[in-house]
Amino acid sequence: MIKLVNVTKKYGNNSLALENVELSIDKGEFVFLVGKSGAGKSTLLKLLTRQEKPTEGQIMVGGKSIVRLSNKEVPLYRRKIGVVFQDFLLLEDRTVFENVAFALEATGTSPKEVKKIVPQVLQKVGLAKKTNSFPNQLSGGEQQRVGIARAIVNRPEIIIADEPTGNLDPKTSKEIMRLLSDINERGTTILMATHDIEVVAYMRKRIIALKNGQVFRDIDKGGYED
Ligand code: ADP
Ligand code: ADP
Repeated sequence: MIKLVNVTKKYGNNSLALENVELSIDKGEFVFLVGKSGAGKSTLLKLLTRQEKPTEGQIMVGGKSIVRLSNKEVPLYRRKIGVVFQDFLLLEDRTVFENVAFALEATGTSPKEVKKIVPQVLQKVGLAKKTNSFPNQLSGGEQQRVGIARAIVNRPEIIIADEPTGNLDPKTSKEIMRLLSDINERGTTILMATHDIEVVAYMRKRIIALKNGQVFRDIDKGGYED
């Protein structure tokens, strides 16, 4: 599903963020991306969302190179990917329903379909009762559920989550991880960058560790120690 071949990313002339990165993630995998601040995690995620282009190397997603996509092709490509953020990034002046509907409308879904799909997805993330609430009326965990609903509503093949539990307490983090796990078990590939060693330890999924822009370890299941 995701393949990086000899990927190097430099910012400007001397800031080397990623160096000769090789990795391959199969469809349906759940993968943690770990590493200290500055290791290159955000850069890797930005290459996959095509916010950045590699300086060298090849990136394949779903069997197609994304390196040479034209600006016109990028929006269609991005529909394959749902993104979940640490600080949720919800529209504060819109309701839960509207936040999720907005993502569907952006892909040209008809109002009739939007009315049908949004309640189904809110049900799925456990927020059916909060449909008409505004983000500031929700707990952190509930806000992240809205973020996840928004990420899955267009049925992406891949979810990229950047520190999704970074602002949540351990119990709420566990609930959010259970939800991401459910989504993964239905076939969505998940790549999650995190500093949360506790989450990584109990999930027992594949761990890719970056260090100074290189893949430093790639471990099959759990058992992470720095
Ligand atoms: P992480 O997400 O693991 O903290 P980053 O991908 O943000 O790592 O950063 C990797 C390296 O690239 C760091 O040395 C960082 O300073 C550098 N870097 C990241 N973004 C930029 C940028 N826009 N311009 C210059 N250097 C950058
Ligand atoms: P099922 O697999 O039986 O359809 P799900 O729990 O996957 O059950 O889905 C419940 C409802 O939500 C279904 O009607 C499904 O079409 C809808 N649904 C599930 N996931 C999504 C999604 N990512 N986007 C839109 N609708 C979804």
